[in-house]
Amino acid sequence: MAEINNFIHNIIDKDLEAQKYGDKVHTRFPPEPNGYLHIGHAKSICLNFTTAQKYGGKCNLRYDDTNPVKEDMEYVNSIEADVRWLGFEWEHRLWASDYFDEMYECAVKLIKDGKAYVCDLNADQIREYRGTLKEPGKESPYRNRSIEENLQLFEEMREGKYADGEKVLRAKIDMASPNMNMRDPVIYRIAHAEHHNTGDKWCIYPMYDYAHPIEDAIEGITHSICTLEFEDHRPLYDWVLQAIGKWPTPPQQIEFARLNLTNTVMSKRYLKKMVDEGTVEGWDDPRMPTIAGIRRRGYTPEAVRDFCERIGVAKANSMVDVGLLEHCVREDLKNKVESRNVVENPIKVVITNYPEDQTEEMEIENNREVPEMGNRMVPFSRELYVDGDDFMEVPVKKYFRLFPGNEVRFKGAYFITCNDVIKNEDGSIKELHCTYDPETRSGSGFEGRKVKGTIHWVDAKTAVQIKIRNYDHLMIDDENGEQIMNPESVVETIGYAEPMIKEAKPGERFQFFRKGYYIADEKLTTDDEKVFNKIVGLKTSWKPAK
Ligand code: ATP
Ligand code: MG
Repeated sequence: MAEINNFIHNIIDKDLEAQKYGDKVHTRFPPEPNGYLHIGHAKSICLNFTTAQKYGGKCNLRYDDTNPVKEDMEYVNSIEADVRWLGFEWEHRLWASDYFDEMYECAVKLIKDGKAYVCDLNADQIREYRGTLKEPGKESPYRNRSIEENLQLFEEMREGKYADGEKVLRAKIDMASPNMNMRDPVIYRIAHAEHHNTGDKWCIYPMYDYAHPIEDAIEGITHSICTLEFEDHRPLYDWVLQAIGKWPTPPQQIEFARLNLTNTVMSKRYLKKMVDEGTVEGWDDPRMPTIAGIRRRGYTPEAVRDFCERIGVAKANSMVDVGLLEHCVREDLKNKVESRNVVENPIKVVITNYPEDQTEEMEIENNREVPEMGNRMVPFSRELYVDGDDFMEVPVKKYFRLFPGNEVRFKGAYFITCNDVIKNEDGSIKELHCTYDPETRSGSGFEGRKVKGTIHWVDAKTAVQIKIRNYDHLMIDDENGEQIMNPESVVETIGYAEPMIKEAKPGERFQFFRKGYYIADEKLTTDDEKVFNKIVGLKTSWKPAK
């Protein structure tokens, strides 16, 4: 894997040269356990973990659980499974809530130093007093309370004397600052809520902008990598650590652009809504951009890491073509998986000049690109199935597959000519009557006439029925350019497969010859029933930028 080289690493290189943190590089991935991780988080995970790896440093997994109402152990477990699936292992698994005592002490220190005060304005009033980008804010009438009064009120907030929203603790910074985040931001709020870790010990909780820098500093994080929307919060991040004054060389916050993908929604809130409303099968629905979803879909961790590396790290927001992710999946699978013959919308073919009770075993390569992957034997007899897409009664221009009067190669078998189309009473196709040329057996060294089409087939007698779930993008643009759910994001079909498919294990991937890459669904595949998810088609519409 090529090394990521990016502006973040340039900053770290300079810090190492200046020995800002000595030789230490320590990053963290700080998810809020309020949903499943998605491909955007994968980018952050790859960036934080590979950065630590590159410098021989460490990376923590830290749950940002400062918000008491939303956490859920189901999410915690999924996050750990996802990080490990991507191939990373954290140095320490930590909880922001473990630092509540220290955060409280830091707040008391700020009050003692005249840098924080208890404010009785309600949320609407605070917003009103904050001013606008054009106008400075107004100072709260509670801003100049004495240190003693503030200490007592904050203590009483903690003791539960006040209702939610009745009082807050604010940093005393600058109500005229051009940066709105610096206009006396709220750093503690009252929330009488049960916390999954601290129970009912606390009824005041620290705000993100106050808590996050302290979490980083306590853990000795050197470089705190976050997404671009926090750029304007960096002065507050620095202010908090400087005002507390406990850490001589505080961590450096660095912002990068979050990943946006075409045909994909990446907001946890929106994804949760789809799960709750049953629009999708669950967080791991193979159409979901969650890591659990793309894993079940059949994407590989190697492909996801390769993708994260190729898109690099940018300082400006942009939209990445989801086709690039699919390209990475295809690139990773093409030399790894065996091929199988599978047809959908089957059409029966009868080889009228082939002996009635004969079966031949045809030797077919498992992976054309990788001869070391060997060959397998596939039965061939008088009655076969071909894919519905491989026959046209009235061919369009440049159609080289089966049509009346045309000769094609049956992959790994013989040259076959279509002679007659036999219909049912309702006019639908019953079967095709074809003939084969015994001279043209594959591997016989036959060097006769050329044919333009090669198609695959499945022996009718031994064919195994499988379920195929054909996936397409979950989201598409409607005629007004609005993103809507794709009504054809999943289309289920029945396939006929060569007998070897019976051995497919849950989670095993294949190339269905000429069709695409598929995985035996890890939840639905049993010994008796095989359910396959389409991972990605064979052809790409994605082109590298020139
Ligand atoms: P969402 O907005 O989807 O709820 P979030 O940012 O609130 O996501 P967190 O759990 O707070 O979710 O995110 C953990 C880490 O992942 C953060 O450092 C965040 O910046 C990063 N992250 C989240 N989404 C993306 C994305 N699309 N691209 C890159 N990094 C992301
Ligand atoms: Mg967040």
